[in-house]
Amino acid sequence: MIPAEFDYVRANSVQDAISLLSQHGDDAKLLAGGHSLIPAMKLRLNTPSTLIDVSGISELTAIKLDGDKVHIGALATHRSVETSDIVTTNCPALAEAAGKIGDTQVRNRGTIGGSLAHADPAADYPALVLALNAELTVEGNAGSRTVAADDFFQGLFQTALEPGELLTKVSFPITGSGSGAAYEKFPNPASRFAVVGVAAMVTVDGGGNCTAVRIGVTGAADTPFRATDVENALVGKALDEHSISAATAKVADPADLLSDLSASAEYRAHLCSVLANRALLKAAERAK
Ligand code: FAD
Repeated sequence: MIPAEFDYVRANSVQDAISLLSQHGDDAKLLAGGHSLIPAMKLRLNTPSTLIDVSGISELTAIKLDGDKVHIGALATHRSVETSDIVTTNCPALAEAAGKIGDTQVRNRGTIGGSLAHADPAADYPALVLALNAELTVEGNAGSRTVAADDFFQGLFQTALEPGELLTKVSFPITGSGSGAAYEKFPNPASRFAVVGVAAMVTVDGGGNCTAVRIGVTGAADTPFRATDVENALVGKALDEHSISAATAKVADPADLLSDLSASAEYRAHLCSVLANRALLKAAERAK
C-alpha cells in the first residue's frame, strides 16, 4: 500500500495548472481531494510520474447563482455542495445526493470535479449531472470549451476530457417551479458507493401532465446512462403510481449491466426499476 515514487508540484491558478500539465506530459496527474487518486496510487493501479496539486486554486471552489443556472467550481467539496444555500435552494436533489456520498471525511475532502473527471462507475454525481442536464466547462491550452452531460461520460473511467485539460466548472439549470427532482441510491454498505443510483427530473404542466423528464442511472453499468425508454414512455402522461410503475417495469437489460461482488446484473436491473420508481414518484410530488 505504498505508492510508486512521484514528483509533486503545486498549481496556483488554472493557467498554472494548464502550463504544468503541458510541461509534465501525459504521465502527470492532477490531484484534487485525493480520495480516488491516492488509493489508486497506493494499489499501484495508477503510477503518475508527477502529481500537480490543484487543491489550492481557490477560484475553483466557488458556488454561484447566475440567472437560471447554478455554477459549481470543480474544487467545491461534496460537503460544500451539500450545505450550500444556493444549491439547496435551487438544485435541492443535487445537495441531497452530495450528502449521501461516502462518509464525513470523504465529503470534506472529495470534490465534484475530481469525482466527475474520475468517472468511477459507482460514483453518485454522474446520475445527477445527466438528469439535471448539466454542462461541464473544461480548460486547456486551446482555451475553454463546454461539454453537455450527455457527451461527457465515454466509458469506464473515461470522459470527454482531452490530455492537458482540466475540468473547471459544472453548471446546473435550476429546478424551477413546475419541476421536481430526486435521487435514490442503494449504497454499498461499506463504502457507500452506489451499487445503483437513479436521479430523476420531471416538469409538469398546469394539468399535471409530464412535459419533460430526464433519468440518470449510475452504478449499474460501466458508464452512467439515461433511461430514455422510460423517459419517452412518460412524456405527455399524468405522473401517478400507475404510469410510473408501468414505465419503470423495465429500466435496463441485465445483459448491459455489471455483475460483481456487490450485486449480480439481474439484481442491478431490479434495483434500477425500484429506484427509478421511487425517484420519479418523489420528483413528481415535488413538481406539484
Ligand atoms: P482525486 O482523487 O484528487 O482525483 C481523481 C481523478 O480525477 C484523478 O485522476 C485526477 O487527476 C482527476 N482530477 C481531479 N480533479 C480534476 C479536475 N478538476 N479536472 C480534471 N481531472 C481532475 N464517491 C461517490 O460518488 N459516492 C460514494 O459513496 C463514495 N464513497 C467513497 C468512500 C471512500 C472510503 C472513498 C475513499 C471514496 C469514496 N468516493 C465516493 C469517491 C470520492 O467521492 C472522491 O472524492 C471522488 O471520486 C474524487 O474526487 P477527488 O477530489 O478526491 O479527486
